[in-house]
Amino acid sequence: MEKTESQHRNDIIDVCKRIHANGWVAANDGNVSVRINQNTVLCTPTGFSKGYLTSDQLIKVNLDGEKIEGFLQPSSEMKMHLDVYKNKENINAVVHAHPPFSTGFAVAGIALDECIMPEIIIGLGSIPLTKFGTPSTMEIPENIRPYLKDYSVFLLQNHGALSIGGDVYQAYYRMESLELFAKINFIARLLGKVNILSENEVKKVIKIREQFGLDTENYPGCRIDGKVIKKADEAGNINFESSRDKFDKTIEYADKSRYFDKIVLTKEMLVEIITAVVKNVLNYYK
Ligand SMILES: [Zn+2]
Repeated sequence: MEKTESQHRNDIIDVCKRIHANGWVAANDGNVSVRINQNTVLCTPTGFSKGYLTSDQLIKVNLDGEKIEGFLQPSSEMKMHLDVYKNKENINAVVHAHPPFSTGFAVAGIALDECIMPEIIIGLGSIPLTKFGTPSTMEIPENIRPYLKDYSVFLLQNHGALSIGGDVYQAYYRMESLELFAKINFIARLLGKVNILSENEVKKVIKIREQFGLDTENYPGCRIDGKVIKKADEAGNINFESSRDKFDKTIEYADKSRYFDKIVLTKEMLVEIITAVVKNVLNYYK
């Protein structure tokens, strides 16, 4: 069932409070919008903290940015939101904030585009760094536009992050995934090593993504040493058997092969068997 305008207003306020509570915005930073029909967008006002907004303070504008309803003024960054709605289908929500780890990478000029974590490869592919644009001008949307086709989350150089989605919660969760990924990446850098997955490992992850039925056309993939991996073709055989299944099969095999001189076990199976035996022995003496 389609959401009512009042539900959309409540969703925006909920997301604004989460952004504020997460520490992704200071003072009046950040903005959120939802497209409630083809030519109408509900958005946050300029000059207000996202932590204390009320649903009656939201503003309705058309895709040209003209105010249709509301007693406050729309955010000056609404140009960036409207440009997304005009240039990408099936997007009905945009979230902009300054999450500190993501923004740290944006300030350092480092895109989060390497193949590092399966969740990011499956959900987002990677996150590009878009060129700096003067706030509230068309420079920002113009710098984001080339990446719109494939990406759904963006680092804005020396500024912050932007996420887009089919609804406001999808856009919000994408921002959440970005910020956690940036934080983990930062910690790995502090520890002195960021292991990049191998091409074969990445292709297997992308294969899983394809099996989820996710869009394979508009997908950016991720990078290994400058090479972009975005398709699962030629991926090695994926063995979906859990080690538990393997263990059961091994026992079955071992049982059947009692009349043979030798059985073949992988190291993983052997460790599992020994662990189970030791646990049993320990339980016996408890
Ligand atoms: Zn901003």
